[in-house]
Amino acid sequence: MLQHPPSSRPPVLGRVVDRQTRCVHYRTELDIVAIRFACCGEYYPCHRCHSEVAGHESAQWPIDARSTRAVLCGACGTELAIAEYLEAAECPSCASRFNPGCALHAHLYFEVDPSSREGVDSDGEPVVTTVSAASSPTVPSSST
Ligand SMILES: [Zn+2]
Ligand SMILES: [Zn+2]
Ligand SMILES: [Zn+2]
Repeated sequence: MLQHPPSSRPPVLGRVVDRQTRCVHYRTELDIVAIRFACCGEYYPCHRCHSEVAGHESAQWPIDARSTRAVLCGACGTELAIAEYLEAAECPSCASRFNPGCALHAHLYFEVDPSSREGVDSDGEPVVTTVSAASSPTVPSSST
């Protein structure tokens, strides 16, 4: 069901060096996926290709777009849904191994669940709650 003819694969922009979407930045045996960027809808092999070639800021896919097909297996040309890719260690269609190191960069392409990012939100500003000054003893008299 997941099979697409190789001729239908979408174009991959950026500094691609071979047909399996490796680029000048990431070209190990495992670097075979390209990512469609949310900002322009185009496939690039990596975020560095995008920033060098696209000429605009990259945008991440929101959490609720996880069912969007935005990852291209360079080995067989199958487009995977984001959720599918994030859970897979290899291509479900051709069983090519994906680079496990890509998970470290997943936040550059896909918005990650805020609850799974511990300790990132604090800006280093200590939260000081001043309660004492606000408490005034004057209680509005209730009319009887
Ligand atoms: Zn873009
Ligand atoms: Zn690249
Ligand atoms: Zn594949």
